[in-house]
Amino acid sequence: MLHLIGHEFAEDQVSIVCKHVTDGAPVVEVAHDLDRVVQVLCARFDHGVDDAHVVHLHHLVSVLEPLGLPAIDPGQLAQLGEGGWLVKDMPPEEEDE
Ligand SMILES: [Zn+2]
Repeated sequence: MLHLIGHEFAEDQVSIVCKHVTDGAPVVEVAHDLDRVVQVLCARFDHGVDDAHVVHLHHLVSVLEPLGLPAIDPGQLAQLGEGGWLVKDMPPEEEDE
C-alpha cells in the first residue's frame, strides 16, 4: 500500500500526471477524485487530453513525497499558493471535457 495525502492507495492505483510535471515542471495542483484517481498537475498551462499521462500511482511517489502535501480527501484538491498548500473542494464536474 502507498501512504499519500492522508490516505492509503494500492500500488497500481491509476493516476494522472501532466507531461509538464514529467518534464520537470513544479507540481502546483494535486487533486483526489471521488473515484480515487490522483491528478498531479503543474497548473501552468491549460491542459488537454494530449497533456495527460496515465500512470500507476507508485511512479509518482518520488514526486509527491517531497512536496509536504496535506491530507486531501476524495473530492478535494490542493493548490500551492504563497502560504503553502491550500485544500479546497473540487468544483462540480462539467458535462463535457
Ligand atoms: Zn502541466
